[in-house]
Amino acid sequence: MNTPTHVTDAEIEARIRQWFNDNVESLKLEGGHALSGFIRDSALNQVLMYWRKLHEVALRVTDTEVKLTLPGNLSPSGRQFAIEGVVDIVQEDAQTTMYDLKTHKEQAIRGNLADYEDQLNVYAHIWQNLRGQALDAMTIICSDLPDPVQRALREQRPGQLENALARWNPLIDVPCNPQHVGDTVQRFGAVVDQIENHEFAPPPVETLNRPAAGTQVPFGTAVCRNCDARFSCASYRAFIRAKARVGVGESHYREYVLQDFGEEEERDARRLIETPMALRG
Ligand code: SF4
Repeated sequence: MNTPTHVTDAEIEARIRQWFNDNVESLKLEGGHALSGFIRDSALNQVLMYWRKLHEVALRVTDTEVKLTLPGNLSPSGRQFAIEGVVDIVQEDAQTTMYDLKTHKEQAIRGNLADYEDQLNVYAHIWQNLRGQALDAMTIICSDLPDPVQRALREQRPGQLENALARWNPLIDVPCNPQHVGDTVQRFGAVVDQIENHEFAPPPVETLNRPAAGTQVPFGTAVCRNCDARFSCASYRAFIRAKARVGVGESHYREYVLQDFGEEEERDARRLIETPMALRG
């Protein structure tokens, strides 16, 4: 591993753990939200695995968290809106590459590459035409840990994690082709109008039962599980209620809903904290 001079890999990972813990503590103090141990471990693993797999890209980044803004666009209904994005830039050997970090599943990105191409080409347009900078390539970094890596972290068998990391390919190249940016901005504008008109209807539950594009996994699992609005979404509730009927009833329903909140012990602790004393019996 080519890490900065006179710092070992173990020392770097120890520092990452320390920075991560400091961040979690300040977020807790600022927002008053505690993370369950399960979520905290998952997030830390994601950062550590990202470093182990992608340290060569991370060390080459010349401009990090570059904010790109395209102001002064008009929606179909005449509303003004701006588009903003944040990317990392690597400039070396007269070649400039733009990296965009995504937390989505690798298959979901590969299966919907056209949508990602549209978004990245808006950034390419801003970089090349508004900032007047050269751009040779664009790459998505997929930070979601694939199942074999997650399994290896759980099972901890010798060599398992190294093999899983070696097979993981989180870099997805995107063609640099910003000619159709006008159409993409129009589509964004149509979404702005929907938001401003309070048109928030979710897709029907049939959509949630169908595989998400590019995957074998239902949309309700692949996409909705990452959606903050899921517990107030009628389609998602219908999706998991139907699962409870074909599964093992109410306990299946509770398991499905609660599995985001850690292991059984943590869920019990959470239930006890959140249940008023008078209701505990
Ligand atoms: S849970 Fe979120 S992503 Fe899924 S249908 Fe509802 S609003 Fe859309």
